[in-house]
Amino acid sequence: MKKRTYQEYRKFWKELEREPIKTDFPVHLDIELTDACNLKCSFCFQNFMEYKRSLMPYETFTKIIDEGSQNGLCAIKLQSRGESFLHPKIAECIKYAKDNGILDIQVTTNALLLNDEKIDLVVKNGLDVLIISYDLVHAEATQKTPKPMTNEEFTVFIQEVVTKLDKARKKYNSNLKIRIQEAQEDYSAENIAAVERKNKSLFPEADYFLVNPIYSSHEDAPHLANLDQYTFHPCSYLWQRLTLYACGSVTTCSRDYNCKFNRLGNVNSSTVKEIWTSPAMKDLRDRHLGGKREEFHICALCENYLINKETNEAPVGCTGIVYDLKETPTKKLVKLGKYRKK
Ligand code: SF4
Repeated sequence: MKKRTYQEYRKFWKELEREPIKTDFPVHLDIELTDACNLKCSFCFQNFMEYKRSLMPYETFTKIIDEGSQNGLCAIKLQSRGESFLHPKIAECIKYAKDNGILDIQVTTNALLLNDEKIDLVVKNGLDVLIISYDLVHAEATQKTPKPMTNEEFTVFIQEVVTKLDKARKKYNSNLKIRIQEAQEDYSAENIAAVERKNKSLFPEADYFLVNPIYSSHEDAPHLANLDQYTFHPCSYLWQRLTLYACGSVTTCSRDYNCKFNRLGNVNSSTVKEIWTSPAMKDLRDRHLGGKREEFHICALCENYLINKETNEAPVGCTGIVYDLKETPTKKLVKLGKYRKK
């Protein structure tokens, strides 16, 4: 299969947000290197996960990348429910993916395990985007670890990590982008702007800043109040991406953190292509497009791709767009809504 350039991949990604185009392999995979975490934050679904924690074997990872590189896979995020820097081979995984043509390699992290050696290796090996969750609840959670930090110590630590990342990317002439994200209960426009300003000043070397809302992370809790105010639209995840957990189980997204609602298979017994083109995946897509998204338990409770019936606006903080901060989710969501009426 002809490989896409980075520009072609980004263009195609956006097309998939506007239109549910049938493909025989996802453009993006969330590949979870581990479901374990070094912290236990009070709000996190780590508290409700029923799985015994595991590391993805390196051989499983390389098998996924081998299949992906032959089938047009462009992007991976090496994280879903856990802290990926607990995986002893994270740098090797990045190198393997980059050497096999993956254009966009991302990792989300709390950054607390990043030391000089790891920073140097992951930047040298081709990491494209590091997403740092800068949340003071992480400082609070360190109180139960061997290295407790005050809020100030935590902030200084993350500032040092960002500075070291910046030095490493200059040393290796790397295109690494650093994103700082913080979750806030107050999701008013004023507070979002204030938090962005604060983080730009705290982390001047970072490239992107994002403020996320805090939702309940329990799988049986609606992520928004008054869901009957909204119409539910097809979720673009179903045409763009899959989530592969460390144990090999595959689902649509990390909202299914126990993998019991939208489970699609396991990469230890099926190929990614078989799962992507399976009857179960087709059924998800058909029912999302047919106005029956609510028949899937977690999709019925999820805030993504909803439109307010009265205002025709997406709910505040609706996720699904991460890179194009200039484009409002509402525009895209309305387009998806139009598609469904065809
Ligand atoms: S739970 Fe939300 S993000 Fe996941 S597939 Fe359903 S609608 Fe999409």
